[in-house]
Amino acid sequence: FAHRQRSLGELLRASRRFGTREYLVTRESRLTFTEHYEQVAALARALREDYGVSKGDRVALCSANCPEWVVGFWAAVSLGAIAVGMNSMWAGPEIAHSIGLTDPKVLIADARRRALIDAPDLPVLSVEEDIPGLIDRYRGADPAEETVDEDDPAVILFTSGTTGRPKGATHSHRNVIAALWFNLLNDAVATQLGHPPTDRRFLLATPLFHIAALHNLAVVRLAAGDTAVMHLGRFDIDRVLRLIEQEQVTNWGAVPTMLSRLVELGDRITDYDLSSLRTLSINSAPSSAHLKERLRRTLPEAGQSLGTTYGMTESSTAATLASPAELREDPNTVGRPVPTLQLQVRDADDNPVPDGTEGEIHLRGAQLMLGYWRNPEATTASTDPHRWYRTGDLGTIIDGHLHLSSRRSDLILRGGENIYPAEVEDRIATHPAVLECLVFGISDDDWGQEVAAVVVLRPGTEVTAEELHAHTSAGIAHYKVPAKWEITTKELPRNAIGKVNREDIRKAWETSERTG
Ligand code: ATP
Ligand code: MG
Repeated sequence: FAHRQRSLGELLRASRRFGTREYLVTRESRLTFTEHYEQVAALARALREDYGVSKGDRVALCSANCPEWVVGFWAAVSLGAIAVGMNSMWAGPEIAHSIGLTDPKVLIADARRRALIDAPDLPVLSVEEDIPGLIDRYRGADPAEETVDEDDPAVILFTSGTTGRPKGATHSHRNVIAALWFNLLNDAVATQLGHPPTDRRFLLATPLFHIAALHNLAVVRLAAGDTAVMHLGRFDIDRVLRLIEQEQVTNWGAVPTMLSRLVELGDRITDYDLSSLRTLSINSAPSSAHLKERLRRTLPEAGQSLGTTYGMTESSTAATLASPAELREDPNTVGRPVPTLQLQVRDADDNPVPDGTEGEIHLRGAQLMLGYWRNPEATTASTDPHRWYRTGDLGTIIDGHLHLSSRRSDLILRGGENIYPAEVEDRIATHPAVLECLVFGISDDDWGQEVAAVVVLRPGTEVTAEELHAHTSAGIAHYKVPAKWEITTKELPRNAIGKVNREDIRKAWETSERTG
């Protein structure tokens, strides 16, 4: 596949053709493609002249979502520098670790994050004053673009750290652009058939440092001439739904927690006019069939267009997707691989397994990362000699459709039986008192591992472990039913993208079991 633009800088220059269309909208500001390009050009020049940023240098971004993050990102990559998306939820030591790892030339940060940075020699530019100031000062200057090779690194994004310390997945210009191919091809075909995509307005409510947001929203929107409508601040279902209403958002790619907040509104959903929403997708983390069903009921229109994607930081964006029809037919599939990617399911000896048999999902294609930044051991371990990336996720192909079972590391091994936490969670979650739950394995002298569950109750409800046990046993095999229960009203701790760190909860459990 060839695409006309071979670097993010070229993609940016090409975006000028969208002129006065809106690129980035928040409740406080509106940027057209022209205005965005001018701001990026000015900031790029400032980064080069005042801070000596040149090709290959790292420019780190550490801030809550804001337009300056996006402008800073494009300024960095247009200079051939490498944009580093730091997690805005990190505490001081985690920020320090990623500064040490990526050694940036400058760091762009908001006030909250600046207070956490302890790096006296590192120039830190504030998104509140320095960035707008530099843009004003250099406005109208010649752009400071650099030619880069397609295989030069462009972006470092950290994995969510669900299974350990976040790793810096490094993507080349080719990787990021390859992940756009199929969106752009789709648009090109639709346009030729006389149905050009029009007035697409995508909600951006996930953090920009997460691949799903950066890629699907900031990058694809810029390449396709669509609008990104960015929610500012913490996720708040009321404010997000108001934004959809006011800005006539047409597409929303959400993480499951957000949509679970939405269905919890029940009848109050009719307070909002969501008729502009054309597509909805549930991405990035496991979601139950039950939640999808409730979504279709809660949103009679947009709910019908519910699709899903599966992917990871390392794959730049979606590796598989399921259309609304596929998902209605089979609520547990994550669909088929995107046309530009190869997918294989393999056994422990690295041999492909036949359809219907479970194994580890492997991916290959131009959108797979170059490797983990300054971590050759992890890079080598993650890829086979033929450049197949080992996802660490277990799955099965059934009738051409991928079914995820679990992360390899989450699988519970109880007395020789494999137990999939998601299957048990889905069953528990069908109890009306259950808001959310998490199932994991704890060490057990008899069985090796025993199944444990933490259950968060819906406000105002009560239930005993015995009742939950009986409800769960009525739906799944006895050996899968949790032997230990913790019932609470406290929400599960989540990371920035809304994923629960199973390992943290498991460790906390084992510690409290030991001490209590
Ligand atoms: P780390 O690699 O640091 O442990 P992480 O894997 O959670 O963290 P991400 O790259 O953000 O970091 O997430 C990718 C993972 O999320 C996938 O490997 C998969 O386990 C899970 N995932 C992504 N999409 C889905 C989905 N639709 N359904 C279920 N799980 C998903
Ligand atoms: Mg991962």
